[in-house]
Formats: sequence, structure tokens, C-alpha cells
Amino acid sequence: PLALLDTDSLVSEEDRAMRDTVRAFVDDRLRPEIAGWYERGEVPVRDLALEFGKLGLLGMHLEGYGCAGTSATAYGLACLEMEAGDSGLRSIVSVQGSLAMYAIWKHGSPEQKEEWLPRMATGEAIGCFGLTEPDFGSNPGGMRTRAVRDAAPDGQGDWVLTGNKMWITNGSVADVAVIWARTDEGVRGFVVPTGTPGFTATEIRHKMSLRASVTAELALDGVRLPASAMLPEARGLSGPLSCLTEARFGIIFGALGAARDCLETTIAYAREREIFDRQLASYQLTQAKLADMAVELGKGMLLALHLGRLKDEGRLPAPAISVGKLNNTREALAIARECRTILGAAGITLEYPLMRHANNLESVLTYEGTSEVHQLVIGQALTGESAFR
Ligand code: FAD
Repeated sequence: PLALLDTDSLVSEEDRAMRDTVRAFVDDRLRPEIAGWYERGEVPVRDLALEFGKLGLLGMHLEGYGCAGTSATAYGLACLEMEAGDSGLRSIVSVQGSLAMYAIWKHGSPEQKEEWLPRMATGEAIGCFGLTEPDFGSNPGGMRTRAVRDAAPDGQGDWVLTGNKMWITNGSVADVAVIWARTDEGVRGFVVPTGTPGFTATEIRHKMSLRASVTAELALDGVRLPASAMLPEARGLSGPLSCLTEARFGIIFGALGAARDCLETTIAYAREREIFDRQLASYQLTQAKLADMAVELGKGMLLALHLGRLKDEGRLPAPAISVGKLNNTREALAIARECRTILGAAGITLEYPLMRHANNLESVLTYEGTSEVHQLVIGQALTGESAFR
């Protein structure tokens, strides 16, 4: 369906080659397994991270420390292909590269970068990103997790972290957690090896969405860290928000992957399925649905590629990310649901990816800034009035 607008002509040869490699990997390695992982609610994150590392997908748009240093557009296209497999698989790449690695890469000390980034790029070390708390999701500024400095004559005492983080992707499989906590000088980030005494992670089960992704609750009970554990360059909420901006960018592309997979599956099905002695694809009602979905998918792709170009040129305005995240996740979810109607009863099974993608996209709509939060960001940009509180 994306061929309609020849959006490929807007992508460089190098980025297309990378994209094709990821697509082949998803088709050969992930697609045969994904329904089983989703059904069981279990995914081999550690093995997959090593495979993603070999492909150069982890922190791929970062420079140095074993990262590939690709264009932002290439990173987006990789997210799209991963999410054509499953949003949970793309989430592994997003959290590792755009949240955990980016936090250290952008805000960390040279020692923190040397210690973690090369191993995270290969997938030997898995990272997670703890911002959300049970009582603070859309309003992370209210966080209660605290980091207190132990008294030391030189002012360089240990940090002691106490609090809870919720809905943390890869939380219970991670080797290192980037934890955001309130201090006397505002919100700061900390690099926390997950083996540190006082750190526990409990997997959240019974999710109906992103079942092929590990989500956990973290408890920090007097976690003692050396002074060097703080990210020196992140001050205030702009620290974690800068990481979210990176991950949101990837999702703008990613969501389209889920939508493309739904639409491709549905077109193939509608051409095979006979209803009242004719192909389902030959009915005008079906074609109107397919056409409308292809139009939205194509528009979403043009938007993503435009934002990718702006990001590659270093001039992507923050509200534009909200436009992309709001539109592309919302439309992808609408496409997944509409495709489901075309498959009828078959659409509700795991034999086809529609309901799996639709359920996953419920999380994608909510995390990385809910649709409502992005509407408020755009509203503020339009009117100059903040309506958040
Ligand atoms: P709330 O903030 O309680 O929002 C509830 C509703 O209120 C929403 O509809 C929201 O849009 C709306 N709302 C909020 N503010 C306003 C307003 N001003 N006006 C009107 N309506 C408003 N977090 C992490 O830190 N790290 C992770 O790795 C991570 N992974 C996740 C994985 C999954 C599968 C999920 C589901 C979530 C994950 N999250 C993660 C958390 C995610 O970022 C939050 O769920 C999200 O920020 C929303 O917070 P909340 O769920 O507490 O909803």
C-alpha cells in the first residue's frame, strides 16, 4: 500500500538498504515466533537484544561507543519494520536506544558512557528507563522517588534512592536502570545497576496489550549509589523529556509499520475470501475501506519522512513531534480496527496479526505521551495558552 505514493523515492539508497535488512530479519526470524510469544506473554528479550545488537539496531542513531551513527530517518525506518513485526519488539529497540542509551549518551559522564554504551550497543547489557510512577504518569514532575545525599565532609557523599516506578519496559530483565528522582536541586537522573541492594523489579502480568514485551514495577528501597552514579548533564525534567523526544520520533514511524502489516494482510485476505460468490476485495464497500486506509497510511508516511528530514537537518520543532505521534498512532489504531472488520471472525484470532496489532497500539497510544497530552502540546503551540493544569 505504501507503493501508491512512491514514498520510497524520498528515502536514500543507504537508508533503504538498511530498511530492507531489518524487514528481512523481521520476516525470517521474528514473524514465525511472534504470535506464540504474544499468546504466552513471554518473549526472550535477552536473546533478541543480542540479535538486535548484531544488526546494529541498538542506539543506531547515536555516534561513537560502538553505535552505528545512522540518520534519524534510518532509525525511524528500522522502528517501522520492527513494529510491522510487533509493537513489543519495537519497544525493546526504543527503550534500549532512545531512552536508556540516549540518556547516558546525552547526559552521562565519560566514565558512564564507557562503562555502559558499548555493551548496550551489542545487547550484552539491557537498559530500562524509570520515569513513570504509580501516581504520576502524564505529570512526571510530581514524582515522589527521592535521591538524598549522604552527609560527607567533601559534599561528595553517596546517593540513597527511595521510591517506586511503574510500567517500566524491560524493568525485570534489565542490567541497568536509568532512574529519575527528585533531589534538593530538582529532578536528576541516576545510573543504577539492577543488582544494587534495595532494587527489586516485579513483572506486571495479565496485560492485554504489548504481551510480547516485558513490563515491570520497580521498587527502590534505600538503594545506595556512589556520587558518580548521577547523570551530570541532566538538570530538571528537561533531562528525561529529551529522551522521550527521541523515543517519540521512532514511534511516529513505528506505528505505521503495524498499520502497514494490517493493511497488507487484509488486502491479501480480501482477495482470497469469497462472499456471495465474489471476491471480498471486489466489493465497493471493501475497496472504500481499503482506499481510505491506504490514504491515511500514505499521509502518515509523508509526515514521518518530513519529520525525519527535519530531524536529520537538526531543526525539528518539539510540537511537530506531537503532531506526528498523535496522528500516526491514532490512525494506525483506526486502521488496525478497520482491517479487523474486513477479516470478520478470522480477524479476532492470533492466526492473523490484526487484533494483536490493535491491542498493542492501545499501549502505543498511551505511552510516550498520551494522545491527550500531545493534543495539549499542540494546543499550547497554537494558542500560547497552557491547558495542562
Ligand atoms: P494518566 O497520566 O493517569 O492519564 C489518564 C488519562 O488522563 C489519560 O487519558 C491522559 O491522557 C489523561 N490526561 C492526563 N493529563 C491530562 C490533562 N491535563 N487534561 C486532560 N486529560 C489528561 N513509563 C516509563 O517511565 N518507562 C517505560 O519504559 C514505560 N513503558 C511503558 C510500557 C507500557 C506497555 C505502558 C502501557 C506504559 C509504559 N510507561 C512507561 C508509562 C507511560 O508512559 C504512562 O502510562 C503514560 O505516561 C500515561 O500515564 P498514566 O498511565 O499514569 O495515565
